[in-house]
Amino acid sequence: MGINLYLRCCKLEEISKIMKNNTAIVRKSKLDALLRKHPWVFSGAIESETQDFEDGCLVDLITRNQQFLARGHFQPGSIAVRILTFNEQEKINQDFWNKKIKNAVDIRYTLGLLSEKNQICRLIHGEGDNLPGLIIDYYAGVAVVQAHSTGMFLAEEQICTALQNALGDQLIAVYSKSKETLPNRVDAENKYLFGNTTVPHIAKENGIPFSVNWITGQKTGFFIDQRENRALLAKYSAGKKVLNTFCYSGGFSMYALESGAKEVHSLDSSEKAITLVEQNLALIKNNKNHTSIKADAVKHMNDVETDYDVIILDPPAFAKHRDKRHKAIKAYTRLNANAIRQIKPGGIIFTFSCSQVVDKFLFNKAVIAAAIECKRNVRILEQLHQPADHPINAFHPEGEYLKGLVIQVD
Ligand code: SAH
Repeated sequence: MGINLYLRCCKLEEISKIMKNNTAIVRKSKLDALLRKHPWVFSGAIESETQDFEDGCLVDLITRNQQFLARGHFQPGSIAVRILTFNEQEKINQDFWNKKIKNAVDIRYTLGLLSEKNQICRLIHGEGDNLPGLIIDYYAGVAVVQAHSTGMFLAEEQICTALQNALGDQLIAVYSKSKETLPNRVDAENKYLFGNTTVPHIAKENGIPFSVNWITGQKTGFFIDQRENRALLAKYSAGKKVLNTFCYSGGFSMYALESGAKEVHSLDSSEKAITLVEQNLALIKNNKNHTSIKADAVKHMNDVETDYDVIILDPPAFAKHRDKRHKAIKAYTRLNANAIRQIKPGGIIFTFSCSQVVDKFLFNKAVIAAAIECKRNVRILEQLHQPADHPINAFHPEGEYLKGLVIQVD
């Protein structure tokens, strides 16, 4: 009897035992998302046993009729498999990593995001670059790798080799920073995988120097996703008095100062963030008209000076889960209302949300509700989003997270 006929005769539990290791059968009722190339398979979509699979192992997903569907990293939990390929012939080996990483790096070069002038760029943005669970940020020769899944963590050596192949001589070091993102893995130690260098490390974004410390900094050391929005702020800042709230290392403040702002105030509740702002200011000449404020932005905005021409609101995600969404929308409305109420007539507000669960329509509504509450006329001048080095996989709309508005208040 041929293997296929034999398999068809077996009971479901037996099929997965006979199949070669690490093969999982997807429920017929759950095939749609995979056929639409969504990169996640939830545990409830798998009908065969998976308890013998090692965390982070490779698994082939198949139909009950043995048809190949996809191959990816297995992880016990809600998202059971993160897909790496929909092509049965594509093996997950060094060639695979070389090809994927070179492709992503080439796109960044084509977009002009890796150059002498711009040395800060996200090289791999998870699902957006078809590598779910992997983030790689680049700071003038140093790649910081952050695994969000065990499978990616276990592949870090191959990923490091692929980075060396793709970037050649310009790569000084590769640093793995997965301890915070994989708290349950005792072996996830933050360390250099290749080369090493001292921190802080100076890297330019749109020609402006920044001091980046991936070892002690938040995330991989810098908020790269605001690059284009900072460049836009530069256009609105000349001769203006600017308040940058939730400033972290002062990215927006540096652009405002370099474009001729009259005065810039940077506010953050974290002492560490204020130290980073001061370090960055030391790198530019136009740093005289600056004041750092260590305060809670929400409290501070209740009683803010009323002579700001420009205010930036870039808070951390107010909602990380759907069940916090309602509260988050209220918080965005309150924060924006405080800024709209206080800003000078004709003033400009750059307002953002990086909560994935609050989509751009809900966020716009929160800002509009704030304008109504303040009884001031508001024009939406620009609608902002994440940049091209943080791409959204068309089959994974959940990848859209950063949204913002530039509004003018009459
Ligand atoms: N705009 C920044 C990134 C902001 S990250 C940039 O361009 O780099 C969010 C920042 O908000 C963090 O630095 C955090 O310390 C700060 N923060 C969080 N809660 C705060 C609060 N209630 N008041 C002021 N700052 C806060």
